[in-house]
Amino acid sequence: MKETILSVRNLKTYFFTRRGTVRAVDDVDFELKKGECLCLVGESGCGKTVTALSILGLVDRPPGRIVGGEINYDGINLVSCLPARMRQIRGREIAMIFQDAQSALNPVFTIGDQIVEQIKLHSEKSHRQAREMAIDLLKEVGIPSPDEAASYYPHQLSGGMRQRAMIAMSLSCDPRILIADEPTTAVDVTIKAQILDIFQRLKESRQISLLFITHEMGLVSEIGDRVAVMYAGKIVEIASVTELLTNPIFQHPYTSSLIKCLPGITQERERLESIPGTVPSLIDPPSGCLFHPRCAKAMAICREKEPPPVNVTKGHTVFCHLYSAQGMKK
Ligand code: SF4
Repeated sequence: MKETILSVRNLKTYFFTRRGTVRAVDDVDFELKKGECLCLVGESGCGKTVTALSILGLVDRPPGRIVGGEINYDGINLVSCLPARMRQIRGREIAMIFQDAQSALNPVFTIGDQIVEQIKLHSEKSHRQAREMAIDLLKEVGIPSPDEAASYYPHQLSGGMRQRAMIAMSLSCDPRILIADEPTTAVDVTIKAQILDIFQRLKESRQISLLFITHEMGLVSEIGDRVAVMYAGKIVEIASVTELLTNPIFQHPYTSSLIKCLPGITQERERLESIPGTVPSLIDPPSGCLFHPRCAKAMAICREKEPPPVNVTKGHTVFCHLYSAQGMKK
């Protein structure tokens, strides 16, 4: 069994606004194993990005704050770790790739200079060594003519190339964990497949642990080893990708809806359905199961009690009364 590199335990990250407390991440629990890709999947606003920002200590405070739980990495609880240590970990040991490479890259510096800067920030390398390393990284992520590309400014690159440059930059300190937040959202289908291929290769060549955030269930089978499905700030199901996609008997109703409604890598959006209803308010969430107002299988108990975790098969946990002792078995 693979060793755990990151464990998130009962994480609660709330935002305190004038309209009320937004429970963006509410009691989230998962582990990331060494060398695996765990996909965090769910609709926009379900807490995926806030979970990632919580891991990296990047939640805006105020209005946000981690109000409970632990994030354990390498024997350290990141929730209570000193800011100086957190800065060391961020980038050097845990790196993040953002959805929008255009705004994550600095428009006034060349791609090469930005990667060199990152390398020098976290290592003792000379400028020349850092420059050589930057070019190697651009080559590793499949940028053609990396020597030349290093002298380009972000606006001179296509969306796909900018995303590759972001990946190269995130690798500059050889991190153990890479968090990729919707890294393929802003690119077309062909580039999407190429970027997924880069992640797949990195996982194999660098043994990197990948937390891959996406709203597209179709990508999970392309890249993931395990998947955690999030809904309204909570994880509702966690399983291996194979189990989740091939054993529908134990699927959470929300996961089933995502599979039916979200695009696969080759599907076209025009033909897609959508899940009926809307994501609930995180300020005034529904009672019981948060999915009950949208769930076609909802029972009386679903409106009253929050579903407990049920281990339906080894490594497959579902938070749904359909599978709990109090619920009705399928
Ligand atoms: Fe649907 Fe009830 Fe399961 Fe929630 S607990 S997903 S409402 S069946």
